[in-house]
Amino acid sequence: MDITLDPSRDDLPLLANTSHMLVRHYALDLDVDFESQVIEGTIVLFLEDGNRFKKPSHSSTETCPLESNEAFNFRMPEPCPVPVTNARTFSSKMAYNDFTICGKGEKDTSDKDGNHDNWEQASGISSSKYCCDTGDHGSEDFLLVLDCCDLSVLKVEEVDVAAVPGIEKFTRSPRLTVGSEVLRNEIIQELVTMPADRWREQLDYYARCSQAPGCGELFFDTDTWSLQIRKKGAQTATDFPHAVRIWYKTKPEGRSVTWTSDQSGRPCVYTIGSPINNRALFPCQEPPVAMSTWQATVRAAASFVVLMSGENSAKPTQIREGCSSWHYYVTMPMPASTFTVAVGCWTEVMPEPCSSDDRPSERPVPSSQADFRCVGVCGHMEYPCRFQNATATTQEVIPHRVFAPVCLKDACQETLLRLIPSCLSAAHSVLGTHPFSRLDVLVVPANFPSLGMASPHIIFLSQSTLTGSSHLHLCGTRLCHEIAHAWFGLAIGARDWTEEWLSEGFATHLEDVFWAEAQQLSPDEAQEQQELRACLRWHRLQDELRNSSEEMQVLRPSKEKTGHVSESGASVIKHGLNPEKIFMQVHYLKGYFLLRFLAKRLGDETYFSFLRKFVYTFHGQLILSQDFLQMLLESIPEEKRLGLSVESIFQDWLESSGIPQQTCGAVSKWIQVNRRPRKRKRGERAVVFEKLLPDQLVLLLERLLEQQTLSPRTLRSLHRTYRLQEQDAEVRHRWCELIVRHKFTAAYGQVERFLQEDQAMGIYLYGELMVSEDARQQQLARRCFELARGRMDKSSAEVVAEMLF
Ligand SMILES: [Zn+2]
Ligand SMILES: [Zn+2]
Repeated sequence: MDITLDPSRDDLPLLANTSHMLVRHYALDLDVDFESQVIEGTIVLFLEDGNRFKKPSHSSTETCPLESNEAFNFRMPEPCPVPVTNARTFSSKMAYNDFTICGKGEKDTSDKDGNHDNWEQASGISSSKYCCDTGDHGSEDFLLVLDCCDLSVLKVEEVDVAAVPGIEKFTRSPRLTVGSEVLRNEIIQELVTMPADRWREQLDYYARCSQAPGCGELFFDTDTWSLQIRKKGAQTATDFPHAVRIWYKTKPEGRSVTWTSDQSGRPCVYTIGSPINNRALFPCQEPPVAMSTWQATVRAAASFVVLMSGENSAKPTQIREGCSSWHYYVTMPMPASTFTVAVGCWTEVMPEPCSSDDRPSERPVPSSQADFRCVGVCGHMEYPCRFQNATATTQEVIPHRVFAPVCLKDACQETLLRLIPSCLSAAHSVLGTHPFSRLDVLVVPANFPSLGMASPHIIFLSQSTLTGSSHLHLCGTRLCHEIAHAWFGLAIGARDWTEEWLSEGFATHLEDVFWAEAQQLSPDEAQEQQELRACLRWHRLQDELRNSSEEMQVLRPSKEKTGHVSESGASVIKHGLNPEKIFMQVHYLKGYFLLRFLAKRLGDETYFSFLRKFVYTFHGQLILSQDFLQMLLESIPEEKRLGLSVESIFQDWLESSGIPQQTCGAVSKWIQVNRRPRKRKRGERAVVFEKLLPDQLVLLLERLLEQQTLSPRTLRSLHRTYRLQEQDAEVRHRWCELIVRHKFTAAYGQVERFLQEDQAMGIYLYGELMVSEDARQQQLARRCFELARGRMDKSSAEVVAEMLF
């Protein structure tokens, strides 16, 4: 039943042998050095061996949560790749295949000598080269395999947790010899299985153990994608040390973090949601089943702010002149890939004093230990769950902070600070309990390659969401999308990364619902707005389907093999590194249309009450498509299912290219209806939000893009009538396309500005500029690229370079 680990160039290998050992907690202790662009320090892994958490067989096609006694959850940091803009521009003239969009760095990934290698060791006791086979070692030593890439591993050692004062209480057999492996492993086993209501004590002991002295160096070796550790004579996972400390350094070119400068010109570094996730930030177990908690101490110069996926709103501690330390932790186990960190000179944006009165109340929920008792209702592994905390379940708005570069402070005050409470409260009214206790929102540097990204306790937003006269609309919808990921993507993760639609389809569908609620629209207004957005998405999806390979249009590409892993727990994510994928929105759009179709079939009220039940059942766990579909269909009386079955949905929606015909008719009707954007009649309340629907403008401009010719006079009057330069980034994007398409030279300056300030969306424009074969446009593209390239996100820069040269 083993799958063959034979990744092609664009597949992403997950090599950690999670079937043998699972990391349960990471303790990171890191220094961030902007001078050398290196993060250096230690990570301590607390492990549990396979005998304790699983039955012998691992591969399974069952829909039940993994065959362990615990359930897991997972999410891949999603860089919402250039969301709702269009694949259209990109594809309208040049088919995907017409030029290579794989960046050079990506090509290197399969190359052993490429720059994705881990540093070949000179120091350490690294010795013989191992093969990566971790399955059957016969009489050889057990190998712990971690996912790791672009890291310089300096030393690996066993941690003597028995040396921690007071730790004796964790030993069940007091007569064990002090200093024995068995004793140390028993202590850790007790520690990792402590009940949820003792989480503070557990966290504290993790911290103390992580600082305990070493008791013997371990052999290690690295290759392109992994770090392998062994202890001489330890032949099974049970004999292998359960607490391991790794000394390591990141590399400036490592792809998990980006070193850049913010909009005020000051240095910063942050995780970008790279396809390789965090394995170039710390050695870890990438497979979704490896759900763990973490804590991290990060030191940086005192002028920097450290933000992180942590449930505490950390404040800095000065540890010496000019240097501060920040400590964060989480108690909800999550995949290591969801960990996010950002270090920069950002300021916290506070509300203006006068406006604070109308902000909804948001008292933090007291986290007294007694509040959290898993009474066996939740289906996940034990942790202090908010769904079990009466105060938390009724909290509409969770505590939140906003960070941004100084120069964007005002923009944040006008938009973000106003929107966050209403979006959070809208989300609560639709789905109930917020799975996370607090939220930081960071306005990321201009080179961030998408409009937003959600991670536990922290959301990254692009500056492009803050601009334009109707900025509340773009900012609000994007915020709602990222907030929705707290439920779909984070609290409920896909068990198999190829089923990305389980987070993106849901977040896209929910963003409209949350946003309508946040604006307090009437049911009719909400429906009108949602249908307009459906129409836009339909347009985009059609275009993407026309211009992408059929293979890439399938939402469940591994079909019945979805969720399979090898005997060791390793697997390969098909197309996980395919650079074409970052341009594809099929998981967002097709997933959205499937959910829209299901919600229509059931009726909104039934669908959303089902969704709340689903969240209650599956939060804290990993799911496959069938978990959702089965539970949904079971909740509908047979006579109302109208022939729908899990199999038919698989066949029509998830395992085929294109899109089922039944929805085409309905959607093309909306297109007819919206052929001319209607002026919208709005009541007084409209002042709070946009005066003119930006979505309507987008649709109008997209329609105009289909025209063969538009005279400069028409374009000038279009610009004047709609004040296009003042519109949000989505609208300006279409406007720039029109400028390029019709060689409207008078407005080339606006294209240049867009390419500099809206890098998350501008990448397609480079393609448009080049494909025109117009010398002046090509010159413009090259000039802008030269200006932006140094600060640009690496993979975007590579893609653009391919287009230009
Ligand atoms: Zn998303
Ligand atoms: Zn729970």
